[in-house]
Amino acid sequence: MRLDMTGTEWGRPVDRAAQTDGEFEALAELLDITDEQEWQERALCAQTDPEAFFPEKGGSTREAKRICQGCEVKDDCLEYALAHDERFGIWGGLSERERRKLKKRAV
Ligand code: SF4
Repeated sequence: MRLDMTGTEWGRPVDRAAQTDGEFEALAELLDITDEQEWQERALCAQTDPEAFFPEKGGSTREAKRICQGCEVKDDCLEYALAHDERFGIWGGLSERERRKLKKRAV
């Protein structure tokens, strides 16, 4: 027996299975955003000078990396930067070039 997953809404047919998938995706996206907000609220860099994390070309990254070493959300931060292909700045204690190398090694 096949369950009929269609109905009507505002006079138009609605595929309930597709609607449920869409709602599930929207919820999953919302949970991801909530996760991001959760770790970003605990980011140590939020309490420091943000410019240290986005130095001018050739500028020192030492201070930012030192702060990252003591940050409790370092892994979440690095994971986020890798997943979102962040091109600039220090994330999770790594520079853009270091993240690129890490990504290459993982392939
Ligand atoms: S690891 Fe570094 S860049 Fe990432 S949230 Fe922590 S302090 Fe900020």
